[in-house]
Amino acid sequence: MRQRVFSGVQPTADSLHLGNYLGAVKGMLALQETCDCVFAVVDYHAITVPYEPARLAGRVLGVATDYLAAGLDPAKAALLVQSDVPEHVELAWLLGVGVPVAKLRQLPTFKDKAARTGAANVGLLCYPLLMAADILIYKAELVPVGRDQLPHIELAREIARLFNRTFGETFPEPQGRVNEAAVVPGLDGGGAMSKSVPGSYIALSDPPEEIHRKLSQAVTDPARQRRRDPGDPARCNLYTIHGFYTPAEKRAELAHSCRTAGIGCLECKALLAEEIIADLTPLQARRAELAAHPDSVRDVLRDGARRARPLAQATLAEVRGRMGFVT
Ligand code: ADP
Repeated sequence: MRQRVFSGVQPTADSLHLGNYLGAVKGMLALQETCDCVFAVVDYHAITVPYEPARLAGRVLGVATDYLAAGLDPAKAALLVQSDVPEHVELAWLLGVGVPVAKLRQLPTFKDKAARTGAANVGLLCYPLLMAADILIYKAELVPVGRDQLPHIELAREIARLFNRTFGETFPEPQGRVNEAAVVPGLDGGGAMSKSVPGSYIALSDPPEEIHRKLSQAVTDPARQRRRDPGDPARCNLYTIHGFYTPAEKRAELAHSCRTAGIGCLECKALLAEEIIADLTPLQARRAELAAHPDSVRDVLRDGARRARPLAQATLAEVRGRMGFVT
């Protein structure tokens, strides 16, 4: 039996960023080779923070275009838009009656986003509940994600356990799967790279000059104020990002040059920019081709929903039956 996998990205920007790509999409790429995968653009999640309705549909297609350009393959995985499979929301409602409000309030991402947006709506509170439904509706066993999502997957496991105990064995307990890029730091020095923090990220769609520009302004070791000050790579966000791109030997050289002030931050940033640009160039070429045919991207998503929806409908029918609804 092949393992079932689910993961998703929110369409809260026109393109994915390096954190999404290295932390989540690379894991999806590996798993699509050996598992039964559903990868979604989770648009119902994206509206839990302030957003512009006129840009939502374009952003859904933008994220899907990045998925395809990165190598997610509709022949191997179902790629879909969450709102094309409304059973996710219905399952969230059914599961939600067993989840204490206090549990949702204490999740770190809720506290963070509520503080950042200054407005905690019911959707933001219930986001992890919907995420649990996204996973459980496909009875997924593995969820490739960045580290920030692990508390949500723990919640999905608890919800599965509770449901199984109350209504009978129905769901497997999903496992989060993080890789070596579990937390890609932001360029602003304030935490993880995130679409919801402008200035923190490099988008997959950024042209080379933009990548150079963003990196040249990025925060490095805060103690290194002048070119002649020795730096500490362990305190430098960008040195961590070098770790995902620059070969180990070159990185060791850079670390030494940083500690002895033999290299300046600008020079080190330019090297990182070149590594990132070289990695993104083929992806951006595919992205440009795909972006010229948005209707084809939409068709891929419709087809993904057509293939995956019967699984979601079967789970929902089973859940309704176990919970005593009329059939
Ligand atoms: P964002 O915070 O940019 O809106 P999403 O919530 O859409 O990102 O997350 C999509 C996926 O990308 C999730 O699996 C998440 O854990 C992962 N991810 C997001 N930011 C990072 C990061 N900085 N480092 C590693 N993974 C990340």
